[in-house]
Amino acid sequence: MIPEDHPRYRSLVARERIAACARHGVVALEGVAAHGRGEAFDYLIGETTTESAARAEQTAAALLLAAAHPVISVNGNTAALAADGVAALQRACGAAVEVNLFHRTESRIEKISAILGKAGARVLDGEAERLLPLSHDRALCLRNGIYAADVVLVPLEDGDRCAALRDMGKTVIAIDLNPLSRTARTASLTIVDELTRALPRITGACETLTPGERERLVFGCDNTVFLREALDEMTRRLCHALD
Ligand code: ATP
Repeated sequence: MIPEDHPRYRSLVARERIAACARHGVVALEGVAAHGRGEAFDYLIGETTTESAARAEQTAAALLLAAAHPVISVNGNTAALAADGVAALQRACGAAVEVNLFHRTESRIEKISAILGKAGARVLDGEAERLLPLSHDRALCLRNGIYAADVVLVPLEDGDRCAALRDMGKTVIAIDLNPLSRTARTASLTIVDELTRALPRITGACETLTPGERERLVFGCDNTVFLREALDEMTRRLCHALD
């Protein structure tokens, strides 16, 4: 039992959830390692949403609302940590939700879909086809889902698939605490923030942005600026860590 007054309560609860979901086969063991990498980078931005990330979250909302066929791509870690957040965002922006896994088994797809369904998300189902130019199983997706999407939100993505989606002409929004990852550098927009902080903010922005604000955010979207601001913030914190 983690005491609620522990200074890193949220982080420890998330870690416990990832561990429990790994034991139940929802999160792959490799996903546990990926979570650890995220935790390390979260330390570097102070485990908080920076001003720059908040702007990226608003921009993500604007891009999702402007899309003709937005899709949220969900993996095991995302379902474990933020099934409610995915369902709320789906309601706010009307995106389809598709499960897409690197370590793909039918059993994991079913378990992850069940978690999302229980949280209130409507999950696309159907026969996945090898439609993305990738040699691993993340090539498998639904023709009426990710394949047809113009905007794809990919929390906790791997770089290869992000690049493949971009090569197909899609707008890719990544949520990734590591601004140096291939995903972060390849995406159209990277939100350098923790998943469970980012999703409610994107949802909130979907509900409050005016059409004029949305247009300005889409027009001004520059991923390099967001990545530079995240790195500047991390560098600033590192330089002053012992002050
Ligand atoms: P790439 O292939 O893009 O270079 P990678 O090999 O690190 O990146 P993965 O192993 O799939 O890709 O890791 C997913 C990424 O998700 C990591 O960069 C990690 O920092 C990030 N991450 C993990 N957990 C979270 C979280 N809860 N919120 C935001 N980002 C996270």
